[in-house]
Amino acid sequence: MRVVVVGGGVMGSSFAWWLSGDPAFTGEILVVERDSGYRRASSALSASSVRQQFSTPVNIAIGRFGFDFLRRAEDLLAVGGERPAIGLVERGYLMLAGAEGASILRANHALQREYGVEVALLDPDALRARFPWLATEGLALGSLGLSGEGWFDGWGLLQAFRRAARARGARYLEAEVVAGERRGRRALAVRLASGERLAADVLVVAAGPWAARVAAMFELALPVEARRRCVYMFETPEPPAEAPLVVDPSGVWFRPEGRGFICGAPPPEEEDLPDLPLVAEDGFFEERIWPALAERIPAFERLRLRSSWAGYYAYNRFDQNALLGAHPEVDNLFFMAGFSGHGIQKAPAVGRGIAELVLHGAYRSLDLSPLDIGRLAAGRPLRERAVI
Ligand SMILES: Cc1cc2nc3c(=O)[nH]c(=O)nc-3n(C[C@H](O)[C@H](O)[C@H](O)COP(=O)(O)OP(=O)(O)OC[C@H]3O[C@@H](n4cnc5c(N)ncnc54)[C@H](O)[C@@H]3O)c2cc1C
Repeated sequence: MRVVVVGGGVMGSSFAWWLSGDPAFTGEILVVERDSGYRRASSALSASSVRQQFSTPVNIAIGRFGFDFLRRAEDLLAVGGERPAIGLVERGYLMLAGAEGASILRANHALQREYGVEVALLDPDALRARFPWLATEGLALGSLGLSGEGWFDGWGLLQAFRRAARARGARYLEAEVVAGERRGRRALAVRLASGERLAADVLVVAAGPWAARVAAMFELALPVEARRRCVYMFETPEPPAEAPLVVDPSGVWFRPEGRGFICGAPPPEEEDLPDLPLVAEDGFFEERIWPALAERIPAFERLRLRSSWAGYYAYNRFDQNALLGAHPEVDNLFFMAGFSGHGIQKAPAVGRGIAELVLHGAYRSLDLSPLDIGRLAAGRPLRERAVI
């Protein structure tokens, strides 16, 4: 079996690692990645945080497996005794809500508890007691992850998957896929910018924010857009102690990173256009983010902006959830797409799941079928309400 993967980011690389490690696999894996420096890939520009606080059982289960995998990743992805550095920090997410959002937080909490997530609801008094640096005006409730959440080195994870997949025999080719070849229900090949044709028995689209472009090469429409998200890094003379990853009701989030913090926020809907240049705008930080940060954490009034960057979310317009599995119109064309800003933590579970699907025709360990791409044609969205 010859498997060609379009895109060698964290998804394509995780898939290649899992597939190449399955004793039942005897074929060839070719990962086509146009930029081995990953300058615009989401995996290299991510905030790389992992949580279990989702609003759907499948995402909760994926988050849990993701964290568990990250705990063991330095052993699992070691090559020739050399362990990669994943830099996992276990620290919860603190989701804050005002009166309006409190009922959603409560509903999510009930579901999360049902699925065994260690998460606590804190009222404003409890929030103040636990995080004395937090201003609780306008807050009704907070939801704090007590274990199994945190952040890590996303670049480290991408490189570790890639290196370990190559050590198991997967080949990486630095080239751009520019066309697809399909006959009815079968994808036959991809064509590279060089003109070379790569025939495949199975094709996997792991092209991140560019998944819709690759889908179009096979005459398929995918509601996935490259939506810019900016990340700002700052330092402050009196950093809040033991800060978790905080998500404010305003949509602004921040978390510790090295000696400082990183933060971001979704842009206003009318400005959230596809394919904006990957430049972080300082004006957005000054006008939208900093005021919200300083209102919530008064010590942040004295922060100093140190640097910034921008990356693309692979934004799924349909329901902001992953689109996985074989396309209903093309039996051997598999998608790992539309992660909408929560994909890097999903790479371990989704890579394993798609490898199982390709090789065994079904999910064997974790059932990812609620995220099946077939829900687009069926018009059955699976909305994730906890999108950051
Ligand atoms: C600012 C920001 C913050 C984020 N924060 C988090 C977070 O905290 N937690 C979380 O879980 N997720 C987060 N994400 C999302 C996460 O980073 C992504 O979901 C994940 O990295 C997606 O991986 P991928 O492999 O699908 O895509 P990518 O890493 O983008 O990889 C796709 C690859 O495909 C290649 N490619 C595309 N088209 C072609 C082609 N035609 N030919 C050859 N190669 C091609 C590209 O070069 C690219 O390297 C964040 C994303 C951003 C941008």
